[in-house]
Amino acid sequence: MPTHRHVFLNHLAQTSTSPPMYEFKKAKGIYLYDKNEKPYIDMISGISVSSLGHSNKKVIKAVQKQASESMHQMVFGEYIISAQTKLAKELTKHLPGALQSIYLLNSGSEANEGALKLAKRYTRRSKIVAFKNAYHGSSHGALSLMSDQYYSGKYQPLLPNVSFAEFNKIGSLDVIDEKTACVIIEPVQAEAGILKANKNFMKALRKKCTEKGALLIFDEIQTGMGRTGSLFAFEQYGIVPDILTLGKAFGAGMPLSAFISSKKIMQSLGSKPILGHITTFGGHPVCCAASLAGLKYLIKKNYTDQVKLKSNMIVKLLKNNKKIKAIRASGLLIGLELKNNEVLMQAIDRCFEKGLITDWFLYNNKTMRLAPPLTISAKQIQKACKIINESL
Ligand code: PMP
Repeated sequence: MPTHRHVFLNHLAQTSTSPPMYEFKKAKGIYLYDKNEKPYIDMISGISVSSLGHSNKKVIKAVQKQASESMHQMVFGEYIISAQTKLAKELTKHLPGALQSIYLLNSGSEANEGALKLAKRYTRRSKIVAFKNAYHGSSHGALSLMSDQYYSGKYQPLLPNVSFAEFNKIGSLDVIDEKTACVIIEPVQAEAGILKANKNFMKALRKKCTEKGALLIFDEIQTGMGRTGSLFAFEQYGIVPDILTLGKAFGAGMPLSAFISSKKIMQSLGSKPILGHITTFGGHPVCCAASLAGLKYLIKKNYTDQVKLKSNMIVKLLKNNKKIKAIRASGLLIGLELKNNEVLMQAIDRCFEKGLITDWFLYNNKTMRLAPPLTISAKQIQKACKIINESL
């Protein structure tokens, strides 16, 4: 009988030469369990997905109910699907007037693809501005927004007409001009090791986009659904983007993403030609049911309001550790900068041995990633920080 490990190595594609090959049997709350029932604190939430922890009862119930009622129908904006309308009704309550029209998709990359296409259609321009060290996904369009040639260089040619500006440098915003269809930005550059955009920079960016007629896209795939201390990070800047993209935690554990804009902008996908963006599975009823249950639970339990306190607690418990060179936190999106990659990789292994899962960042391989479920308790934070301190 071939083992899981054998099948994994021989029949499933790997994306690196030395995958960690962790194997978990079940998951509940902030814990993942291996086959011997050993619990591991999930300090990365499957890269910012399991914000409500694992196996949330309300989400499971919603999934089961929807699966037993109807699974797949033609999903893209042609049929009225109640799982979608219920989600849209709830989500739009929490969004400003300029973000009331939702296009549902499956993954973050797809949501960003849709957003770029929408900006091109609406503005009738083709130039795109992105920021150095941003991450917007792995499809060809999203890869074109990646400044790091190490990851994107082998896939050339990518989208033409993409310019890169410097994150948090107001002077570099001059690249936005009358030919620019859109500017796409993460309010917190996660994969760069947690770099938060500052307020003045964001205000200047909003102003520049409005002046030049370019649409401002906020990629909140990682920062959305409460992770940085407000339901959406844009709320902390006193500005509203023209297009918002969501993914990851938005599906409450199921694959769901969205690009969201005003009715006026979104309408440009619907005529001359029609079907400006289509999808077979985006906005699948079961994923929408999960997302709605997750959103209601998040709001009801006030988890977003607790983020700042929990973030401060983690920082306080780790800040005296001499092995940590810098701590960068935006709510429960936290990066611990260590001496080098070797020290980090050793620490990740030791954390795992002691029952805690952490990781590195795509463009910052000496920084430890912490993005625990927002549901983590004070006691669990203490336990997690003790393991991290010991492992360092
Ligand atoms: N944007 C951001 C900010 C992300 O963090 C990610 C995923 N790490 C994506 C887009 C891409 O999402 P997906 O992997 O679901 O395509």
